Amino acid sequence: MSTFPIRPLSTQTAPSQASELERLLGEIRACRVCAERLPHEPRPVLQAGAAARLLIVGQAPGARVHASGIPWSDASGRRLREWMGIDESVFYHAGQVAIVPMGLCFPGRGASGDRPPEKACAPLWQERLLALMPQIRLTLLVGGYAQQHFLKQQGHQSVTDTLRNWQSLGPHIVPLPHPSPRNVAWFKANPWFEGEVVPALRERVRGALELQACRPSSSPAA
Ligand code: SF4
Repeated sequence: MSTFPIRPLSTQTAPSQASELERLLGEIRACRVCAERLPHEPRPVLQAGAAARLLIVGQAPGARVHASGIPWSDASGRRLREWMGIDESVFYHAGQVAIVPMGLCFPGRGASGDRPPEKACAPLWQERLLALMPQIRLTLLVGGYAQQHFLKQQGHQSVTDTLRNWQSLGPHIVPLPHPSPRNVAWFKANPWFEGEVVPALRERVRGALELQACRPSSSPAA
């Protein structure tokens, strides 16, 4: 059973909440906590709006996203939008969709793939951001780092195990594998994910965003 905090829905966003969120976003953009560890200048990449209804928690920006400053502006983002059944006009609408990865800055490359998200980041910002987005009704936990943090998983639990039990997490959370092209072998080995979880995901996304129709995603320019 999930320990993820589900808040009651509020129907309005107080103006003070929106301005408080703007102030917090300014604070985040100026953050230099990891400046000495990162192989580049800190560049937090996120999207947040006080009226957002859907939250995407991923791992951390990759090199392309770091360069563009636009979350999920890469091949992983194309696949994620396709899974969700929404196009860029919805995905990048901060009044509908919030995007807050576990590490807000690109952590740099490691021996195999990107380094893990900076550990200092989520405890600093996640809770404060979520407190200012009280209308979130659906949270997508993309990849193991987000799942371990939000589901308070103890010890090692694989993404596959978490996904196989996705329905036990209730109607407000959907765990997802990372949509990176590096995971193509996993997608092929686990066809139940696209056959079972993706259709349910699309339905929940439509419900959370109150979309009337669902169209396939378009390709981003990045
Ligand atoms: S990763 Fe997070 S805590 Fe570290 S510099 Fe970037 S915004 Fe600040």
